[in-house]
Amino acid sequence: MAVNGTAVRAVTEQLPVRGVGQASLLLGVDLGGSHISAALVDQAGRILQRRKAPTAVEAGPDGIIAGIVELLREVISVSGVTRRELAGIGLGIPGLIDSSRGLSIFSPNLFWHNVQVVRPIEREFNLPTFMDNDVRCATLAEAWYGAGRGVANLICLTIGTGIGSGLMIDGQLVRGATESAGEIGHMTIEKDGPRCNCGNHGCLEALAAGPAIARRAREAIEKGVETVMLAMVGGQPDRLDAAVVTQAARQGDPVAWEIIELAALYLGIGIANYINLVNPELVIIGGGVAQAGELLLAPMRRVVGQRAMKVQAATARVVPARLGEDAGVIGAAALVLERLGEAGPSAV
Ligand SMILES: [Zn+2]
Repeated sequence: MAVNGTAVRAVTEQLPVRGVGQASLLLGVDLGGSHISAALVDQAGRILQRRKAPTAVEAGPDGIIAGIVELLREVISVSGVTRRELAGIGLGIPGLIDSSRGLSIFSPNLFWHNVQVVRPIEREFNLPTFMDNDVRCATLAEAWYGAGRGVANLICLTIGTGIGSGLMIDGQLVRGATESAGEIGHMTIEKDGPRCNCGNHGCLEALAAGPAIARRAREAIEKGVETVMLAMVGGQPDRLDAAVVTQAARQGDPVAWEIIELAALYLGIGIANYINLVNPELVIIGGGVAQAGELLLAPMRRVVGQRAMKVQAATARVVPARLGEDAGVIGAAALVLERLGEAGPSAV
């Protein structure tokens, strides 16, 4: 279908969001290991009202779901929205999910195994309720309302404590057989590389996510290499994280700069592999580590240019995400439209 930018744009513009009648507003929930965000979002992806609370992980699944219900109630009551104006609720859930059964299969940060998430919320609000993986929700938000507007073929990476991605091909989110498509973080990059949380060795995540960046900074300090990073954490290497390394690199610290450059090399290799495989027009980079901006993106683009195949590399622009932390909650809300078969954002 869409083979160039113009055709792609024409496709999305033909698909304004209509057909949900008066029920034009959406509720989104972004469930994270530390915080839950809930928001009322319109069909242009604008947040009209929002609430955020810490995730009571110790309260278990029932306690966390009660927390989600409470936040949604607050958003509804503060905004004064009526049930008739609401098209549905979308939930962005971390980890492995089975959306057809409304289940969180496994979520390591929440200590969840086979938790029914959708049914209790649907019952409580009597609204169509949908779930998806949190990274896929962020991808949908960036695709419809953020850096990917008007683009039908894109991949969206979140680089933080872990590395995840979502992909959209020909305007459709790709989910895969077990809704696990896009696990770029567990692509093997080094056959004898460091052990990853997944049990494999040399995964991209084990080489280039926030903890890997912090680990290299600690190792440099342990070796006695001179760097401003030690002073930046008050002489306590265990306080090092990717943000400190980024800040030191910005200040011109050569050790920090080398660590960022190495992370960019691994990320560039992973992205080049991904680009060769799915041929996107756009690679959107978000997440905490991506706060490094051009410091990370510029060397990453260089590596992609060297390692991806010529035509694919020339087609795929690597750009920063636009929606920041809001992508999760906006995308969860947009999921309602996506799942109800409303194919794209309204032309605003
Ligand atoms: Zn892994």
